[in-house]
Amino acid sequence: MPESKVLDLAILGTGPGGLSAAIYAGVYKLDFAVIGKDYGMLANSHEIINWPGTKSAPGLEIVQKIREHAVEVFGAKIVDDEIVSVKKLDGNYSLQTKNGKKLEAKALIVATGLMNRKLGIGEEKFIGKGVSYCATCDASFFKGKVIGVIGGNDSAAQAALLSAEYAKKVYVFYRREALRCQPIYLPKLEAKKNIEIVLNSNVTAVKGDKKLESIELGIKGKKSEMKIDGLFPEIGAVPQNILLQELGVKFDEAGFIIVDSLQKTSVEGVYAAGDITATHSGFKQAVVAAAEGAVAANSVFKFLKEKR
Ligand code: NAP
Repeated sequence: MPESKVLDLAILGTGPGGLSAAIYAGVYKLDFAVIGKDYGMLANSHEIINWPGTKSAPGLEIVQKIREHAVEVFGAKIVDDEIVSVKKLDGNYSLQTKNGKKLEAKALIVATGLMNRKLGIGEEKFIGKGVSYCATCDASFFKGKVIGVIGGNDSAAQAALLSAEYAKKVYVFYRREALRCQPIYLPKLEAKKNIEIVLNSNVTAVKGDKKLESIELGIKGKKSEMKIDGLFPEIGAVPQNILLQELGVKFDEAGFIIVDSLQKTSVEGVYAAGDITATHSGFKQAVVAAAEGAVAANSVFKFLKEKR
């Protein structure tokens, strides 16, 4: 791609929001590129059972199929790189990637999604040594071991169910009275004899020499230590919004991008889609992200038409 060419649209993010936007950008014959360094958080789900038309598939497979569709049918150009800067320049948006690529576009769709929230108890020093934020990727390494999953929503439920296929014992540590995952997961968790849900519990410290060896647990104010081989903190995710702060895009108090019903942000020519938006009361689903991507591309099409 020549570096001087001004694209109609740059799509930031290669998860279901960004890639669906790419499909629709192709439908509208826009000149566009998609920039992203991974497949988004959907790829971390080992089983998706609510993607329309697919009864069951790993998240990675679903997102790879959307990518194939965007590339093979609509000629999407995907730049496998990380955006490090976004600036407004003479009415257009100028982007720079980690590997030094420069792009310029008349409009942006931001679909950069989320990144894992950290516990903040120093667990990061055990990443790859007992601690993992991706059960789909790493559960199989804990065959016959004792592992802990932290959290009480869907990701924690999924991580526990997958880990129970390999581990001898899986504890789910949740800080409240009852899990709040989708009801479909509850009987599945109950049916697994090696899963134990530990309610009203907090993991307050991680200990070990070269690898994770134990955790400190607080249950109703009482502290105890538990030997453990692996830990999956599944405690949600935070929006990847850092690049947009300079543009003056408005966020809600949690850092999600505020958009209108056309996925338009507070800045002209900048649209957003997927998990990074402050829409639908936080209902973060791939199908919602895909729908927002489609709406955003339609809005960009209309915006560019009006500009001409
Ligand atoms: P989430 O909804 O943010 O839930 C995070 C969980 O971790 C909550 O139970 C939360 O507790 C707990 N938590 C947060 N911070 C904590 C901390 N510092 N220490 C201990 N616990 C902490 O994250 P998620 O489960 O990844 O789900 C995110 C979104 O993706 C949801 O909308 C979910 O429905 C969706 N999702 C869908 C599927 C699916 O449909 N198959 C699969 C995965 C995720 P509280 O309950 O007290 O807040």
